Amino acid sequence: MSGFELPTDRADLFSLGLKLLDKDYFIGQFCPEHGVDPTDLFAKTEVFGGLMSELRASGRFLFGMPVVSKPGPKVIIEEPDGNQREMIMFASNDYLGLSAHPEVHAAIREVVENYGVGAGSSRVNVGYSGIHRSLEAKLAKHWGQEAGLLYPTGYDAISSTIAALCGPNDRVIIDASSHSCIIDGARRSGATVRMFRHNDAKRLEAQLKRASDKGEGAILVVVEGAYSMDGDIAPLDAFVPLVKKYGARLMVDEAHAIGVLGARGHGAVEHFGLEDEVDLIGGTFSKSLGATGGFVVGNAAVLSYLNYLSTRIVFSAAFPPILAHGVSKAIDLMEADGGLRERLWENIRYFSDGFRKLGLDLPEVEVGAVPVRVHKDGVMVDFAAELYEAGIYAIPIVYPSVPHGRSMFRLAMQAGHTTEQLDYALSVFERLLKKYEIL
Ligand code: PMP
Repeated sequence: MSGFELPTDRADLFSLGLKLLDKDYFIGQFCPEHGVDPTDLFAKTEVFGGLMSELRASGRFLFGMPVVSKPGPKVIIEEPDGNQREMIMFASNDYLGLSAHPEVHAAIREVVENYGVGAGSSRVNVGYSGIHRSLEAKLAKHWGQEAGLLYPTGYDAISSTIAALCGPNDRVIIDASSHSCIIDGARRSGATVRMFRHNDAKRLEAQLKRASDKGEGAILVVVEGAYSMDGDIAPLDAFVPLVKKYGARLMVDEAHAIGVLGARGHGAVEHFGLEDEVDLIGGTFSKSLGATGGFVVGNAAVLSYLNYLSTRIVFSAAFPPILAHGVSKAIDLMEADGGLRERLWENIRYFSDGFRKLGLDLPEVEVGAVPVRVHKDGVMVDFAAELYEAGIYAIPIVYPSVPHGRSMFRLAMQAGHTTEQLDYALSVFERLLKKYEIL
């Protein structure tokens, strides 16, 4: 151990714990400041472990508690002492409740005996099954593109596509609110990476102009269809003409938009009717489709190139074929049952209107999660702990996930939340927002 003393105040401890989840901060600043021996590779892990144990013992570290019931709007979680607690879930991205859908389960049962549990190897080896092939064909057809390509996860689909397509001569332009997989892929590619202010078409154009004025390589713009932390969607109708004007390519990560936006739930590209204008669409099966795995759809030649040059396809086992079959059923349900999406949107509107009636300044919510901005960083620990005590599972979002002073609760909605559950949550929030002088 370095002899570093952990803060005794629980709020400070919690804030420090969250800051330490940023590896660059932990290794770059925290370790040198606290005299952690840089020549011992494992020394920092002891300091980290000590801190995490204290955080857990303080009973205020809400991350990673095991859920021991079926997924859904109400779950049972198990606390470190074995106590089980029923909670209303506002932290799951299973927006449509398809993870627990009996028809998805039946589809998986149908194929498990013939296909086994795991893929057995990577897609380019023997991990590619007939089920994977038909899911790729379905994705291409339904998303209006030439071809589809599956990846083990959504993170892989986005990061590996960027890393495989771009090189040191190229420039990748990304939104300032980009998910880690976009930043990771852009950095790994070796290209010059530029960011523009969140959803700001003028700033995007400035970066496009700058990028096209110098350098010989190509330009790729990557944005998300829906930003679940910011609560808004990308103005793709404004972005597309700009990307074309500067001869760049556009990729949209639809992770949080699938199941939430578009007439059939395909995402923001469908919402804007831009299926023919966007170069690549990527997504995940881990949110509205209730499973795991990722995909990219687009031009067949590009996808064939990606199939052999994406490290996350070549060097990782394909995701289980049984899940591919479950995802295929989940897509059918998502497309056919517009009622699921309608219920989700009724809940989003009801809940966000409820917060507005309480007096909270909440702009129109365009995505599946309601952002409740608390702003006061210092109250987040106690606020989150009291929500927890009241049976509301909502993860606090604090620095470094958001800038200082922009602390918030991101309340992920589900089609299956009942009005009683939402009313109860609103009453608890009302009490706490008043108590902490946010209202
Ligand atoms: N893109 C975005 C915008 C995401 O939010 C996420 C998941 N948090 C991913 C990609 C990664 O998806 P997966 O869970 O399938 O790895």
